[in-house]
Amino acid sequence: MFLFISHLLAVAPDQNTISNGTAAVDINLTMWNEDMFEGDLKIPEKLIMDYYNFKDIPGGDEILLNISNNARSKRSNERFNKRAAGSKIRLWENAIVPYKISRNMPAEAAMNISTAMKVFETNTCLRFRTVNGARNYVKFTKKDKGCYSTFIGRRNGRQIINLGSPSPGCYTVPVILHEIAHAIGFWHEQSRPDRDSYVTVHWNNIERKSSGFYQFLKRKDYSIDYQGSEYDYSSIMHYPEQAFSKSNCRGKGCITMSVRNPTVYVSQGSPILGKASTLSREDIVQTNRLYSCPQPGIRGLLIIVIRYGISMRDTDGWLNNPDPYVSLKAIDSQGSSYPFKTPVAGGTRNPVWNEVVVLGERNWQFFRISSWDEDWGKDDQLTMSETIQVSPGNHRSVKHCENQACAGYIIFDYYLYTNTREIARLTVNIRFARHLRDTDPIWNKPDPYVQVEGYNVVTEPDRRRSNIVSGTTHPTWNEIIDYGCNRWSLMTLQVKDNDGRSSDLMSDKHWIQLNTGYYYYHRREAYDRGYFVFDYALKIDRDDCSPNPCRSGGSCVDKCTGYLCKCRRGFLGTTCQHLAGNLRLTARYGRNLPDSDGLWNDSDPYMEFVAVDVFGKTKRKNSRSVGGNHNPEWNQVLDFGYGAWKSIKIRVYDSDWGSDDALSAEQTVKVTKYRHSTNLRHQCYSGYTIFDLNFH
Ligand SMILES: [Zn+2]
Repeated sequence: MFLFISHLLAVAPDQNTISNGTAAVDINLTMWNEDMFEGDLKIPEKLIMDYYNFKDIPGGDEILLNISNNARSKRSNERFNKRAAGSKIRLWENAIVPYKISRNMPAEAAMNISTAMKVFETNTCLRFRTVNGARNYVKFTKKDKGCYSTFIGRRNGRQIINLGSPSPGCYTVPVILHEIAHAIGFWHEQSRPDRDSYVTVHWNNIERKSSGFYQFLKRKDYSIDYQGSEYDYSSIMHYPEQAFSKSNCRGKGCITMSVRNPTVYVSQGSPILGKASTLSREDIVQTNRLYSCPQPGIRGLLIIVIRYGISMRDTDGWLNNPDPYVSLKAIDSQGSSYPFKTPVAGGTRNPVWNEVVVLGERNWQFFRISSWDEDWGKDDQLTMSETIQVSPGNHRSVKHCENQACAGYIIFDYYLYTNTREIARLTVNIRFARHLRDTDPIWNKPDPYVQVEGYNVVTEPDRRRSNIVSGTTHPTWNEIIDYGCNRWSLMTLQVKDNDGRSSDLMSDKHWIQLNTGYYYYHRREAYDRGYFVFDYALKIDRDDCSPNPCRSGGSCVDKCTGYLCKCRRGFLGTTCQHLAGNLRLTARYGRNLPDSDGLWNDSDPYMEFVAVDVFGKTKRKNSRSVGGNHNPEWNQVLDFGYGAWKSIKIRVYDSDWGSDDALSAEQTVKVTKYRHSTNLRHQCYSGYTIFDLNFH
């Protein structure tokens, strides 16, 4: 009896791995090891009785009878009968699987176990923790022959995953994945209740005398909730096509299972049955579902563009605004919903509309779309709600609800930008447009104009409009709109007529998916046979701060174009290449400074100092107090402030009523020293002045 159970729970893919894929039959022999579970009464027929349908396999009733007789001999009838009610597979609490690896496991096996666990941990919320006193846990051992798991889902206490002989076939990663999958609650894929729609079981090729039929039981419908998921040919839980074949046709292409639904099979990449090397996409989805893992979704910017829909009628004869409208609801990985309702009216009176819905950057799962007719009370639904699974990339012209059940349909595109785009500078050049007329008799300015919206990956549109007027009186215009740098992904353009208060639409909203580079001459239609032309450039703003161009320890700020160095104190310049400091000058005693004109003025003579910095900027300061013969002593401080000072020019002037006379030749002193405090002499006739420079 236990033989049957061992077959049921033993692995299938191990058959391929054990003998290097040469003959699956060898593994069948391994699996049919009759004493594999001897004495192990903890693997109850209960599971099989509860979960499997015996009626639809040849000899099923006979097997059932055997099992129930066996069960009766071991347990009370009462207890047996109770099991008929569908019991639920027990899951590991909090998705944590405590485990222990037997000391006798080879290092290679332990390593593969850890790799397999990582596969689950990377793709699902399941976590494996060393047992650490937990009551329920999985023990990996190689006590017995064969590779098998002793339970489906969690049992109470210890449960075994046996990775025995043949080795190392039994402890390859795919086999371990398969066995862990049993231990967390998964059956074999080909025992799904809907199995017969996807594979044909070749009963004649199955070893009947060893109850091979048993292996091809189908589970009852309630055994697991597949939630409409497709049969998965590439599942790690699928048997190979030669599984449990008769001994006399083994190795002779004798198959027990073949593909029945080629469409699904091909769509899954035509996998070799039972040869999965890792978890399939659906294995991952199912595990996440079973353990209610938060769905990861796909991170990206979701943009939906809703376009003209034929036959979108106003069903009630009342024209409201918006009427009809499209309702959207996008769901992110947290299950939060982001609803949106198109504000622009469609329907018979306004048959064309083009709505860009930017739903932002999140971990998106799916969105639902439907259209409605606005009534005074309850709105009528025009198209049935459709769920669109979000996947990365551009999805163009998705037609929603084009069937008789719907009163119309809508077309939409959607985009999921999965990579945060590079920062780039967007410039839009709007050019000559023919026949753009002012639709109303009132001439405003600008009228008409093009409204351009730029969308970056995270924020709301940045609306700008052309300023230069067009229309009949000003048929030519050419305007460059600089949007600056951002993570631009999309832009829209639309011609509007300026009415003063409201703007009439003069064109559809044209939306342009932005690519980096320069794109010229886009022609877009406006109403009334007019059109407008635009170019755009999206230039990647490279990281100008890498490597850091700033010297002397300056920090770099990447700008839309170029960079900005923030220099440490003491340095200036675009790359902090210049010394900077406070320039202070002390002008002191000067001997024999003459007054050339004989007229005595208040500041006569005086010294003029012109400081010049490395950028050519100058700063002028004069000595305030008089010098010369009458006031031979003076001592004053002139502060030129902070700067990258390069030189200072000195000259003595005689103050006149009109223009001042120069008394000395211009002398230039280089500001070279960080700190300078020398008595510099400036010659003037037979006299001179003295000054100190301080630059620090
Ligand atoms: Zn298995």
